[in-house]
Amino acid sequence: LAQLQRLVISPSQFTNRQINLTAEQQHYLSRVLRLREGDCFIAMVYGEWWVAKFLNLDVAEVLEQIPASNELPVEVVLLVALPKGNGFEDVVRSCTELGVSCFVPVVSERTLLKPSPQKIERWRRIAQEAAEQSERQIVPEILEPITYTQSLSFVNELSFICVARGEFPPLLNCLVELRPKLDNTLSKIVILTGPEGGLTQQEEEAALKAGFLGVSLGKRILRAVTAPVVATSLVSAILTH
Ligand code: SAH
Repeated sequence: LAQLQRLVISPSQFTNRQINLTAEQQHYLSRVLRLREGDCFIAMVYGEWWVAKFLNLDVAEVLEQIPASNELPVEVVLLVALPKGNGFEDVVRSCTELGVSCFVPVVSERTLLKPSPQKIERWRRIAQEAAEQSERQIVPEILEPITYTQSLSFVNELSFICVARGEFPPLLNCLVELRPKLDNTLSKIVILTGPEGGLTQQEEEAALKAGFLGVSLGKRILRAVTAPVVATSLVSAILTH
């Protein structure tokens, strides 16, 4: 079973123990994966995994459910001031592998990229492929881009802003300290990172004032695409036992 390919299926395609495959899925299963009639794959539906048998071009039969618990025990929401070029694609890919549940693209003062609707669609496809590849149960959500001010309303009791310079405690220490809360009361961690040019001082102050905890990821200055990956790795390491 472990070797079977995974495919995200939307709940509306799933009726009476059958999956009605879209043209794109048919192409993927028969041409890309080269499955033959009777071959099996794993259908990911609503956080559940089902063994499915490829019957003919447009239908698969659903067999048994496979128990899975590969998700982190808390939701991780990543607020990322968009890096330039295709940088956000790498962030989405790596951080999906690491367990992020929701990506929020943020347009901050020094953000250079103005994302088109096509770009957002592309990020969603990348999240889906990465979720299939890394054996996630869910595909992380990618919200529409928001302004920096809007992003601050995501604050909760466990919100961190990564600050490249200044005297802030290491994220790891904060997570270790808050660990008991994570086990008992809190179900969501929010992390905010800046763009290449950094967040402005006013932006950093506004986040701290809104209730984000300022944290450091070390003495080196990380690139805008590296910081979210490092922060998410620490969270996932703390939550994996
Ligand atoms: N050009 C800026 C750095 C931007 S780095 C400067 O020279 O100050 C891009 C983003 O990554 C930052 O806004 C911050 O959110 C995060 N980051 C990079 N290195 C970091 C570190 N060592 N600790 C915490 N956050 C960091």
